[in-house]
Amino acid sequence: MALRLTCMQMGFPCDGEATGANMTELITAVQRHAIEQHGLTEQQARSPEKIAEWKGAVASSARPQSIRTQRKDA
Ligand SMILES: [Zn+2]
Repeated sequence: MALRLTCMQMGFPCDGEATGANMTELITAVQRHAIEQHGLTEQQARSPEKIAEWKGAVASSARPQSIRTQRKDA
């Protein structure tokens, strides 16, 4: 099953999305899109913090029933 991450989920105001056959491919696609379309530097796109953030967004989108519930981060 292909993985998919929309720009909204990444926090970008854009209708785009990235897809990949696995997490590595997806993150590569996300990095390329963020650099080309959102002006991130290669360094920013490859930072562990960004990658962790994107992986977290993928993980939450992979559980449709849980993203409907309100987050209680505070
Ligand atoms: Zn985008």
